[in-house]
Amino acid sequence: MTDLLNVDDALQIILSRIEQVSSEDIELESALNRVLAQDISAPTNLPPFANSSMDGYAVRSEDIQQATRETPRRLAVVMDIPAGKTPEKAIDTGQAARIMTGAPLPDGADAVIPVEDTDANWRTWINETTAQQVAIYRTVESGAYVRAIGEDIRQGVQVLKNGTLLRPQEIGMLAALGFPRVKVVRQPLVAILTTGDELVNVDQPLTPGKIRDVNTYTLTGLVHANGGVVYPLPIARDSLEEVRNLFKSALQPKPDMLISSAGVSVGAADLIRTVLEELGEVGFWRINLRPGKPLAFGHIQDVPFFGLPGNPVSAMVTFEVLVRPALLKMAGRVAKDRIIQAVCDEDIKSDGRRSYIRVNLVEKDGVYHATTTGTQSSGALMSMVIADGLMIVPEDVQSVKAGTTLDVRLLK
Ligand code: AMP
Ligand code: MG
Repeated sequence: MTDLLNVDDALQIILSRIEQVSSEDIELESALNRVLAQDISAPTNLPPFANSSMDGYAVRSEDIQQATRETPRRLAVVMDIPAGKTPEKAIDTGQAARIMTGAPLPDGADAVIPVEDTDANWRTWINETTAQQVAIYRTVESGAYVRAIGEDIRQGVQVLKNGTLLRPQEIGMLAALGFPRVKVVRQPLVAILTTGDELVNVDQPLTPGKIRDVNTYTLTGLVHANGGVVYPLPIARDSLEEVRNLFKSALQPKPDMLISSAGVSVGAADLIRTVLEELGEVGFWRINLRPGKPLAFGHIQDVPFFGLPGNPVSAMVTFEVLVRPALLKMAGRVAKDRIIQAVCDEDIKSDGRRSYIRVNLVEKDGVYHATTTGTQSSGALMSMVIADGLMIVPEDVQSVKAGTTLDVRLLK
């Protein structure tokens, strides 16, 4: 098997030739699942001012140290502080202010008494005009029910790091800190090239000898799932002219990556090879991988190019194993393979290549067990539809005995 390139070596060569794409400024609304391309420090404190966490009364805690339900402490209510307003004055000894959740704490006050712990009726409280007095039924510590200035975030501290994947909570944080736009890594633009006289698009009738184009759809899904966007192209027929034109159209939008499927196997029409040799420097690799031995990788006018095998399962598996890490690197994302260990419940024959076998998983007593999905033909796409994962039979292994524990790369 020495003439076949090891999968890990192939991936290393590929990754050494891939760089993160540039960044762009986008509106915060569109930032979900994008990768931050700047460090974010807090320009303000959060919260920006001390405020009440309850509807109630802002008080001086020292004034109500003896207060109980039986012997309440009466305070003069000197103002009303709704949320969004600033207090018009400070409160003094013996005074309180009616305050709403989120409203700024007035000077002089150091705590809030919830309305439930006073003689005010909390059901009608909101609609009442401010009473002159309030009876306080309990004591509180200084700082009670007050959200201190900067309690969440201190002005100037680093809040988010370059490279962070933006989830709803990070987007909320950016909103809280006043960033209507953010710098994020561009979504790599990927052109997917499909060729074959036998292929028709999904909306066309199947005539004798034809099959529907699958790879455009699976590869588009895989690109999207891994942070890229796709430049759509029509299917090219097996003619030098059409394949050449397809590559020209594919380069038009200045893509970050080109992916073709089919045309790289031995005996496949030499058209792709001819055009690749005209346009760029591309190596044809035979990889120690099953499914998916033939693979082309190189650059066409400085754009990284992957020539994947044409069989739908091979195209998907080679994408998972070799293209996905490259795309994630371009997109500034961390490549984390979801790998678990499972006991293989069947004897399996292998041919010495590293094999990615479609399996179903069941958990028994905390241990995963794997069984194959049936036919492992590289054209049998149903195996990918029903599989929970790809069980990895290492290179140089000819047979796996039932009971052996192997890595499984999860697909679900
Ligand atoms: P080739 O490398 O062109 O010989 O293609 C290998 C196999 O993959 C053939 O059976 C093709 O019909 C099939 N194939 C190629 N491209 C596609 C595609 N886009 N969708 C589905 N099957 C394809
Ligand atoms: Mg073909």
